[in-house]
Amino acid sequence: MGTENNEINRRKALKIMGLSIASLAVASFKNNAFANNLSEKIANGEISQVVKRENNKNGDMVSLIGFGCMRFPTNGEGRNAPVDVEKVQELVDYAFAHGINYYDTAYVYHGGKSEGIISNALKKYPRNSYFLADKMPGYYVKEKGEIAKIFEEQLQRCNTDYFDYYLLHSLQNKPGYDKVYEEFGGYEYLNSEKKRGRIKQLGFSFHGDRELWDYVIDLHPWDFVQIQLNYIDWKKDGEYLYKSLEERKIPCIIMEPLLGGRLASLSASANKILKDKRPNDSIASWAFRYVGSLPNVLTALSGMTYMEHLVDNINTFTDFKKLSVSEKMTLNKAIVEYEKFQRIGCTSCRYCMPCPFEVEIPTVFETYNKLVMEKSIPSKEDQTAEEFAEKSKKFADTFKKEFANGGNATACVGCGACEPKCPQHLSIPDLMEMIKSNLK
Ligand code: SF4
Ligand code: SF4
Repeated sequence: MGTENNEINRRKALKIMGLSIASLAVASFKNNAFANNLSEKIANGEISQVVKRENNKNGDMVSLIGFGCMRFPTNGEGRNAPVDVEKVQELVDYAFAHGINYYDTAYVYHGGKSEGIISNALKKYPRNSYFLADKMPGYYVKEKGEIAKIFEEQLQRCNTDYFDYYLLHSLQNKPGYDKVYEEFGGYEYLNSEKKRGRIKQLGFSFHGDRELWDYVIDLHPWDFVQIQLNYIDWKKDGEYLYKSLEERKIPCIIMEPLLGGRLASLSASANKILKDKRPNDSIASWAFRYVGSLPNVLTALSGMTYMEHLVDNINTFTDFKKLSVSEKMTLNKAIVEYEKFQRIGCTSCRYCMPCPFEVEIPTVFETYNKLVMEKSIPSKEDQTAEEFAEKSKKFADTFKKEFANGGNATACVGCGACEPKCPQHLSIPDLMEMIKSNLK
């Protein structure tokens, strides 16, 4: 009776997961206590599902959060420490049960072991119930014949006969791209594999400059592109790359939404701004909601090493909510607070001038940047009381002296007239407000 109930429970569970029971190797759950427990939870309807987004090129319904396979849990320290495959299995089972269906690996991750490990962890699930992404390491290729050899090896490592998403890995410079993908015929070969059905969607991941981007983006009809994007990189090249994809209706996959983990916790003062707004949300959730709020993002990849990260990400993407206007304003304030120990990227071009309230905008930023270089930015949350008092005094004295004849940040009323004129996309009113708060 117990067994029968278990079987019924599994059927219910699979329905929730949107899978056919016949195609799932339920037996493989047998020796996996975690998965058994999970199966029960699914059966009881306790398993929430992350939101999915449709790929406009082929109709794939892809989870808005994808599972990156570059940072698996390991037994030991360092890049080449052996992967803890049991923990990977737990993570994958949990992710899969919650609807995460995009798994992103590469030839080089974990010293060449990532492809085999993720494929092994996924083998209990029907091949058509998830999307597997892999990448050609063009930067390794020294001669023409290697491209096909590597591709065949990848299919073998992954024990599959096709990749759902396949990328030219990490395009960084034009000579490197030209040699492998044009001269050696790498693009032609991979495109022929697409025609043959062993690649479903062909794209590239990008780490180059705008010159390379402008060259490569229209060179071939790419199905998708993977770029680095988060709320810090947006102001650098992120916006340019994202908008370029949006214009061309090329789906965008995001890497580094947490900027290598840095956006999982900002400075104490910036964290406080976000926590005051949404006390129950993690700092990381703001970064994920930021990229998920961009409509042309198909999925945002996260290398989830720990179960608590995975659980938090699933919470963020279940019943996903885009950032509201007021949340965007809060995030901007936190960004300014976070970046206050960094130089403001003002180039003194003066396009923002004149300010109707006679604020000497570029000089204010120049003065601020001098104090940054001298490590004299005060922060109550980040410094001891003595340090804070000392830095506050220096900050106020410096500004008083520099603007003895007017033009100080204190004259800013936040009208916003300057902001659209700034080619560096600086949030000038927010920056002025932050500087003013140190002058009180
Ligand atoms: S926001 Fe401030 S600095 Fe900018 S134009 Fe208005 S008053 Fe001047
Ligand atoms: S437009 Fe922007 S970069 Fe140029 S001076 Fe004004 S704040 Fe600085």
